Amino acid sequence: MNTKIFMLGTGAAIPMKRMLPCICIKVDSNLYVFDMGEGCQETMLKMGLSPVKIKTIFITHLHGDHYLGIFGLLQTMHLMSRERELLIIGPGKLSNILNAYASSGLLNIDFPLYFEPLHEGIVYRDDKITVSSFLVDHIPSSYGYVINIKNNKRITYTGDTRPCHSIIDNSRNADVLIHESTFTSNMAREAHAQGHSTALDAAMVAMNAKAKLLVLTHISARYDDPLELYRDASRIFSNVIVAEDGMVVYL
Ligand SMILES: [Zn+2]
Ligand SMILES: [Zn+2]
Repeated sequence: MNTKIFMLGTGAAIPMKRMLPCICIKVDSNLYVFDMGEGCQETMLKMGLSPVKIKTIFITHLHGDHYLGIFGLLQTMHLMSRERELLIIGPGKLSNILNAYASSGLLNIDFPLYFEPLHEGIVYRDDKITVSSFLVDHIPSSYGYVINIKNNKRITYTGDTRPCHSIIDNSRNADVLIHESTFTSNMAREAHAQGHSTALDAAMVAMNAKAKLLVLTHISARYDDPLELYRDASRIFSNVIVAEDGMVVYL
């Protein structure tokens, strides 16, 4: 099974130096999207990932930087003549927004669109992957995801969160842990007050979980040099990379 992780958007909150959060996991020809930051369809198209091939979109929580890109993406799918159904999975309140958009008569699509509210446990299964979700410590109804690929590889994505035990439990021996890392540890107080993690926090989680590779993402625009985050994390966990927009991780 050929699996690649495309880090399409690796920034936080405002798209200044990096695009907003978006990760696309490609398993053979299937595409699965985790969070859909505004503007990320542009990176997706530039990297040759067709919106028509997206099977499912998984949203971690309802801060705008993580889901507002859905609406532009739906339009592009329509313009590319998508016919295949699309499933969106996310916190229950997302259905209010999608329903309001659909009932306004402005959602101009010709393909079936389904929504499934998130809960803890297995939320999705097909012939390539099984996805389960778990609660994290950010705003109410914030979830992380565990993606189990049929060849026994495993990826955990945290979404936004303070460091917490549920992530350690859900990333034990993971092949890849994609952990938010908004700040470096000299800003730990601000990070935790805002519901976020530092690079060192992420490294601590990766170390305790014995993850094989740590990928840091959701990076604040205050950092010009990714080395600052790398140095912070690699003090205690050596197999770490700081994601960049357009980076591909081969599994
Ligand atoms: Zn965020
Ligand atoms: Zn958030």
